[in-house]
This record gives sequence, structure tokens and C-alpha cells, in this order.
Amino acid sequence: MIALGCYIFNKSLPLPNSFSLRIERQLGSSFAAFENSMGQSSPISIRYNPPKNRGEKLGEPIAWATEGRYLQERPVFTLDPTFHSGAYYVQEASSLFLEQALKHSVDLSQPLKALDLCAAPGGKSTHVLSLLNSESLLVSNEVIRPRASILSENIQKWGHSNVLVTNNDPEHFRNLQGFFDVIVIDAPCSGEGLFRKDKSAMSEWSEATVELCSQRQQRILANVWPSLKQNGILIYCTCTYNEKENEDNLVWLETQHNCEFVSLPIKQEWGVEESRKGKAIGYRFYPHKIKGEGFFLSVIRKTEATNTVRIKSKPLLTLAAKKFTERFVDWVKDFDEKEFIVLDELICMVPKRYFTELELLTTQLRTVLKGTAVATPKHEKLIPEHSLALSIELNKGIFPQIELTKEEALAYLRKENLRVGEGQKGFCLMTYQGLPLGWVNLLGNRLNNLYPSNWRVRMGDS
Ligand code: SAM
Repeated sequence: MIALGCYIFNKSLPLPNSFSLRIERQLGSSFAAFENSMGQSSPISIRYNPPKNRGEKLGEPIAWATEGRYLQERPVFTLDPTFHSGAYYVQEASSLFLEQALKHSVDLSQPLKALDLCAAPGGKSTHVLSLLNSESLLVSNEVIRPRASILSENIQKWGHSNVLVTNNDPEHFRNLQGFFDVIVIDAPCSGEGLFRKDKSAMSEWSEATVELCSQRQQRILANVWPSLKQNGILIYCTCTYNEKENEDNLVWLETQHNCEFVSLPIKQEWGVEESRKGKAIGYRFYPHKIKGEGFFLSVIRKTEATNTVRIKSKPLLTLAAKKFTERFVDWVKDFDEKEFIVLDELICMVPKRYFTELELLTTQLRTVLKGTAVATPKHEKLIPEHSLALSIELNKGIFPQIELTKEEALAYLRKENLRVGEGQKGFCLMTYQGLPLGWVNLLGNRLNNLYPSNWRVRMGDS
């Protein structure tokens, strides 16, 4: 190894010098193995969407995540139509440990109100949606507006209606006292755990960034803490190794508030490391010990008494006219459990049991997506929405469908003209391997491709 300027060069990867010195102190004798792992390629992994995958699941299972699989090589996901149908999410393996955190700290058979505070592009949120039962509600929040749009797109592909996507700063959650049973904070961090996978994480890293991130994380924790119920669970995670952003923040939280740390059962063969500092307990993922990238996670139970926000039932959301909703009886599963609301022209489907909560949330937060958009009325006709095509709650059997070849499916996703369904008229679902991709309007001798323009797949996307 040769030291040069502020970098130490190993065979393949220059690590920032001060990072290298610190992690060497942190890891002791396993530093060489860590350094060696930095020169290896990152594992590729995905997480399946259970309702969209009833058959065999390809890939090597990930020990801590039921639906997680390692792939042998990286396909061009953009050229796989099932990726666009929401059949799976491409996600780093270590971060799927969230599943263990939830399974061992909350009763997932109960209806829960969950918040994913730093949610874009949607890995944790779609995972949480798969783990919560259908009577639960997820608020999936992202503070940066363009990232909130990407989040909304990924949530729609996942196909659940028990979700609200919001675009707020963490401080806007302060008024929602004691509202949530579970909060996930996948905090913006210095990204040391991503050095191998994402070279820009390394070039953007500095000691000053670590300091800045740590302070920002404390602000985020302080802002969102009041909205957690007494006995509620906070899951805090980062993709960085330093203690300032991990254990030190937890120790700090414990000095500010009454809380306790939850110990998770981990199997030795997983290679996950338990870390303790003061009363804080965390779980560390290192690339030389597990098949994945660097990650840190801790589960905290709030023990302090917390008032609960009063839900005043102000009629804020407008219900859709009966002449429309009665047509949805056949369109969607579990119709009686849904409420249909109107936003401008659009009719959206939300869980009936959370109607008053949704009224409260929409007064406090800037919402980007409410449940599943079902249809837009035009004169007396209903134009089905793209979200409905991707919904796991769609009764797809009642709509005409055309199964596409891979080439046709890709042409459809690029919003090109298709030559299918000639002679037929009306709205028709385009499917690939039985999975809906979206709608077309058949007009006899031609069709309108209704794939959303801003979701259009472009050649060269990877
Ligand atoms: N949970 C996401 C997932 O699994 O796909 C990844 C989240 S990423 C690690 C952290 C997110 O926090 C980013 O989307 C970023 O825009 C957002 N963020 C940045 N600054 C923030 C702040 N001050 N408060 C809250 N979130 C912030």
C-alpha cells in the first residue's frame, strides 16, 4: 500500500486517508479483510413484491429477508418489463435487515400507523408496505420535492392503497403528537458504507461532512420524536460506519428522552455485528463479513409518556359521487373497506378505516399521493388511472387484457405506437407475463397509449 497526498491507494480503490485511519482503528485485525472487500464487486440484490410473484423466485435467498434474493449478475433492469410492473425492487441486501427489526419489535398482525421519514426513492417504504398488514397505514415522506415524485412513482408501482406520500421537512411532524406506532428514519448520512458501490460517495466524503450529517441527524430525531406514541418503535438506520452518526446519536437521544434499545436475535452465520455503547444497541454490517454493503441499524422503544394529537373530524376531503363509486364495486377488491375521494378531477381510493386520520394528515402535511388514483371522470365516462393498473387491489379479470411480447411491452413502456387489439374498442390492460403494465384506449383501427409520459422508458436507461 502507498500513501499519496490525502489518499491511501490499495490495488483498486483509494480510500480517504482519515477515513482509512479511523476504520483501521475501529476494525483492528479485520481491517485488511475490509480493505480487500473494497476491491471486490458489489452484490446485486432484489426484493420481490409478494402479490405480484406467486411462482418460483429466482436467485439466492438473503438470510434476513424473506423476499430478498441475490442475482448472479446485473441485468439491464430497464429492459425487463416486469421491473416496470412493480414485480420487484432493486435493493441493497444489508438494508433488508429492516425486516428483522420490524418483525422482532412490533406486532405486525395489528393495524399500525407507520411513518417512513426519509423515504425516497422508496426501498424501505415498499418493504414496510409488504410487511405491514393491509389494515395498516404508511406515511411515506421525502423532503426534497423531485425525490418525492420518484418516491410516489415507486409506491404506485408497488400497488398498495394504504399509503400517503408526503413532501415535508421533519419539523412539520412535530404537531402530530403521539400519532405513529412505528417510525423509520433512514437518515441522510456521509455514506461510508457505499464507498464500494458508489464512487461519488467517496469523493463527497470528508470529516466535515460527518460532523454536518451527525448534527442534521440529531435535528431530525428531535423533530420527529414527539410524533411517536408511548411504547412506539423508532428504527434508526444509516449506511455509514462512523460512531458519530450512529451510536453517538443514539446515546445522545437516550440522554434527551426516556427510551430503551431493543435487542434483535441475530444468527452468527449472518455475520452481522452487534455494537453497544452506553445503553445503545446497534447492528453493523461490514462488506467483508456479509454479502452486502455497509449499514447500521438500531431499534428504539419510546418509554416516555406522550400526549396524542386530537383528531378533529373536519370534513376536508370530498367524497366521490355515488354514480361513480358504485361502478368501482367490480373494479377493486374489498370495495367496502375503501373510501373514494375527489382531488380536483381525480378519484382516489383510500382505506375507509383511516378516513379521519387522513383528514388530519392532509391539514398538516403537503401530500403528493393519497392512496391509489382510480379514475378521472370525463362527462359520464370514467378514464381508468395508471395507478389502478398497477394496483394489487385491481380486479383485473373484469377488464379486457392483451398479453404483450417482450418487444411489444418495451415499445408500450416507451410510449410508442403498438399494433395490437385491432378492431376492438375501449380501455384495455396491457400485460406482460400476466402482470399489468398500464392501459391503452382501443379505437378500432388504432389505439391511444396511456402510459404516463413522465414515466416513459428511454433507451440508454439502466
Ligand atoms: N429510505 C430510502 C430508501 O430506502 O430508498 C433512502 C433514503 S436516503 C438514505 C436519505 C433521504 O433523506 C434522501 O432521500 C434525502 O433526500 C433525505 N433527506 C436529506 N436531507 C434531509 C433532511 N434534512 N431531513 C429529512 N430527510 C432528508
